[in-house]
Amino acid sequence: MGVTFMATLACTAGFNDVMPLARANAGSPAKVVYLTFDDGPSQRYTPKILDILHSQHITATFFVVGYRCEQFPSLVRRIQEDGHEIGNHGFSHFDPKKHALNEVIVDIQKTDAAVWNACGTKPVYYRPPYGSINASEVECVQKLGHPIALWTVDSMDWKAKSASAIVAQVEQHAQPGSIILFHDGISSSRLTVEAMPRIIRDLRRAGYTFQMLPIRDSMRIQALVPKADDDSMLPCDTHDVQRHRRPPVGTRSIGRQGRD
Ligand SMILES: [Zn+2]
Repeated sequence: MGVTFMATLACTAGFNDVMPLARANAGSPAKVVYLTFDDGPSQRYTPKILDILHSQHITATFFVVGYRCEQFPSLVRRIQEDGHEIGNHGFSHFDPKKHALNEVIVDIQKTDAAVWNACGTKPVYYRPPYGSINASEVECVQKLGHPIALWTVDSMDWKAKSASAIVAQVEQHAQPGSIILFHDGISSSRLTVEAMPRIIRDLRRAGYTFQMLPIRDSMRIQALVPKADDDSMLPCDTHDVQRHRRPPVGTRSIGRQGRD
């Protein structure tokens, strides 16, 4: 892939603490960025984002919310049919750190089911709402077959007052290997839609290409096959994590700041 995501995790970081990140391998300074879109699908904005990406021959990663997948399964199918990757962003978009572990797991599994029912594919990556997750949750989420993917550049579209502000924010911070956070399912996504063609144009002029978050075949297979020993899943305290520790599933790419 040319890019390795560093397994750095903000296990105990507060909302404003930042522990990124993805980082390009030394010697592999590929000018690639990863566009990611959270909180959809939405009837209003997701089709517009998809139209832009299609016209520019770009594929991205959409971290969908489960209840919205149930509302708009045809949009989930279109995301997939357009060649994009679908990630799990929880069913209810609650803050995982504020809920019991079993509730988090159920929330993730409900989202997996909603995506599966809509398009026949199970998401690989999980992106916790607000980038909020603790260490024990990380271990259990990975046992569900979901490596965790946060972001390294927040477009700040969730609080932007103009499309130009989003463009400036992204272009100021993007670098090779950046995972860029946008939203296609919130009110300010209208500005995201407006900003996206300019961001694509400018980053291309700067030599960047665009990719989905990398997924190896083994990660997708693991995501599709139920775990045989899920009795180790609950409870998942530190002792259990140690006792049942497995090799990491895929990558943990952690980087976040601000809303998600
Ligand atoms: Zn979100």
